[in-house]
Amino acid sequence: MTTIAIPDDSLFGLDNLPYGVFSTPGSARRVGVRVGDSVVDLAVALGEDVFAGRSLNGFMAQGQQRWVAVRERILDLVSGDVPDDAVHPAGEVTMHLPFEVADYVDFYASEHHATNLGRLFRPGAEPLMPNWKHLPVGYHGRAGTVVVSGTGIVRPQGQRKSPDEQQPSFGESRRLDIEAEVGFVVGTGSAMGTAVSCEDFARHVFGAVLVNDWSARDIQAWEYVPLGPFLGKSFATSVSAWVVPMLALESARTANPPQDPQPLPYLRERQPWGLDIELAVEWNGQEVSRPQYRDMYWSPAQMLAHLTANGASSRTGDLFASGTVSGPEKHQRGAFIELTWGGKEPVDVNGEERTFLRDGDEVNISATAPGPGSARIGFGEVRGRVVPATDTAG
Ligand code: MN
Repeated sequence: MTTIAIPDDSLFGLDNLPYGVFSTPGSARRVGVRVGDSVVDLAVALGEDVFAGRSLNGFMAQGQQRWVAVRERILDLVSGDVPDDAVHPAGEVTMHLPFEVADYVDFYASEHHATNLGRLFRPGAEPLMPNWKHLPVGYHGRAGTVVVSGTGIVRPQGQRKSPDEQQPSFGESRRLDIEAEVGFVVGTGSAMGTAVSCEDFARHVFGAVLVNDWSARDIQAWEYVPLGPFLGKSFATSVSAWVVPMLALESARTANPPQDPQPLPYLRERQPWGLDIELAVEWNGQEVSRPQYRDMYWSPAQMLAHLTANGASSRTGDLFASGTVSGPEKHQRGAFIELTWGGKEPVDVNGEERTFLRDGDEVNISATAPGPGSARIGFGEVRGRVVPATDTAG
């Protein structure tokens, strides 16, 4: 038997217990929980088939009562002795995409980000569209290209036309960017023809991940009017390997910023789902930004209420992301297009002036949130390196 040692300052203490999918050399994927610097194999430790699968979807679909009960069992288990063959050093396992992504929606919930992007994409016009403070604006992304942290990101190619060019051309994106976001994973879905109220959020949403919504700004700027982002976003979206249960984020709950005008009744929350999550963005190992999730205008409960308000169903494995997390200060901007103001104000990265991503660049987004007492809840990281474009027909 093994007693798992947890350092006092661990971001993966007993108040966190995030879930992921891992493998060891020669073995199949299964569900594990992160405890300190160890991964506990739940298929072995709890002896349930639902944890022997390749994703969290089976467990997530079992619903909130099971999420609570299993969390209590895990807490009991890892507070005592764990069978030796269920414990692996975190550094020796391979992490995989933790859930099978059903649908993927990306919102645009930061007022600071939406205002900055409005100024950059539509200079001279009102930066926020008239709908923005009445509904959480979003678009449907591509579920099939959501990848786990550590996956290489092939530089996208596509049509782009800068304002000084007469005609569009096809080629590699010259303005490849990131968006630092928080994503929410639906555990139990809702039927077509029904809506999920803000109060029902915790019954449906299993956990949260970090998201990097890689964005080709030149492709996006040329294609997005009038139907929104498409190929400028769909080539890859990275998520962190550990899904932090919403049950671990109770101490992180906070009020939303004031909402004026008051939203319509279906978007009003009795118990606000603002979250005090601190993100950090590193570019080639150097921290360039510290966005604060608590600045987000729309809460995740409002996002889910909105995306089901028309009777659209939701499913186990649905991922909806917040949109870029940006604050009022320059060092709180979660996308490089904002941080460098469209490339006009380069930032220093390891002594070099940088604007958009070059091949070989690596971006790492990490985050923590308050837990009970002085504990911190870690989200781990979402990391990705840009690899050169592959040859396709132009
Ligand atoms: Mn985004």
